[in-house]
Amino acid sequence: MEYISTRGAAPALDFEGATLAGLAPDGGLYVPRQWPRFSPDEITAMRGLPYATLAARVMQPFVGDCLAPERLQAMCDAAYGRFAHKAVTPLVQLDEQHWVLELFHGPTLAFKDVALQLLGLLFEEFLNRRAENLTIVGATSGDTGSAAIDAVAGREGIDIFMLHPRGRVSDVQRRQMTTVLAPNVHNIAIDGSFDDAQAMVKRMFNDPDVTGRFRIGAVNSINWARLMAQVVYYFATALQLGAPERKVAFSVPTGNFGDVFAGYVAARMGLPVERLIVATNVNDILHRALSEGDYSAGTVTPTAAPSMDIQVSSNFERLLFDLGGRDGVAMAEQMRGFEASKAMRLTNAQREGAAALFTSARADADDTAQAMRWAYEQCGQVLDPHTAIGLHAARESGLGADIPVITLATAHPAKFPDPVERATGLRPTLPARVGDLFQREERFTELAGGYDNVAAYITERAVPAA
Ligand SMILES: *Cc1c(COP(=O)(O)O)cnc(C)c1O
Repeated sequence: MEYISTRGAAPALDFEGATLAGLAPDGGLYVPRQWPRFSPDEITAMRGLPYATLAARVMQPFVGDCLAPERLQAMCDAAYGRFAHKAVTPLVQLDEQHWVLELFHGPTLAFKDVALQLLGLLFEEFLNRRAENLTIVGATSGDTGSAAIDAVAGREGIDIFMLHPRGRVSDVQRRQMTTVLAPNVHNIAIDGSFDDAQAMVKRMFNDPDVTGRFRIGAVNSINWARLMAQVVYYFATALQLGAPERKVAFSVPTGNFGDVFAGYVAARMGLPVERLIVATNVNDILHRALSEGDYSAGTVTPTAAPSMDIQVSSNFERLLFDLGGRDGVAMAEQMRGFEASKAMRLTNAQREGAAALFTSARADADDTAQAMRWAYEQCGQVLDPHTAIGLHAARESGLGADIPVITLATAHPAKFPDPVERATGLRPTLPARVGDLFQREERFTELAGGYDNVAAYITERAVPAA
């Protein structure tokens, strides 16, 4: 499989190249040249497979000949063997129509482990082959950082520099990053929002002083391999609820549009998906884009769901590219306009294409608390605020009673104990396997805002590519 940039001006890469590259040199994002498709018979034949086996089967067309099937299978076995639930992503029923897909049984208690545990292994494999070093630079609003750090801590040939907005991630999230003391892990707290941190990371990918000496890798969802790994649980869930004969809908608490884009990919691969519901908090750029065609960034409002406190959703570009006829030149122009004015209109083709599969909803603080209360009081399920936003959107969706609606549970409730306790009266406790988090030593560096400062810190410490 070949990967092309959404902005049409970067050379095509194979899977190995796209995994190591992160952002394309023209500023675009890599996407497969075409979507592989499974027939209904092929989908039926996936029923009942163990998660890791299903994962290898769904991902093989994207990997192509960069990994032998047995090697990919072994990596999936290793990555998903670290999950604390045998089903990896168990499905829980709330009522006649609603289900919750628990994606938080990985080492850091958020859905990002599902992709990053595999990505760490992919990095190691490909770097070994090339005898190269990788400098991972990432920005996190909370969960990406801890999941990425867990996935690469102590791995050879990799250094990770993780930027988080100081004071804007929860204590659990921060400690999950800063208590990993492996020498290849560097945590940096910056003054500013997640978007500021993300903008610095993007700039670093395009800074010749940095890219000339170091191989800079991405672990946020601009990395295609992450999205690929997330496609798997859409298949796993739909299969359990009757695919390919029966259609299902997914409600996805959304920030950077990575997770829900993986659902779109699953649909393009032939999985019968009735609807993808894009759930946002009051940082609702995606809701406005999908309901009114208005993709314009405001300022970030901190909420109880910090991993969704995002105004610019990187992966939306992948959707717009696909819906706009895959015209890289037009996409580059549209994104240049957005980068200049922080606003753009979707084209008619993009709006109509999106409307065929996506709906959206926005949840404010009350809606979020009410959804947590409903799940707890009516169904005995304790949800985290991100998941609650998804559930709110699912219950508002107006889908027919014959369509099962699955809300993706993106974090364990104990990652956000305060808002959960306020809504339900119950304080969720961390699972025993991470129980000593608050006793562990922390290590991180605070850097005042400013790109040059951060870039200098990183280039003084990173290992050159080869
Ligand atoms: C990252 C994250 C999200 C948002 O996922 P995207 O792929 O960025 O849309 C939602 N919930 C939680 C808990 C997360 O960590």
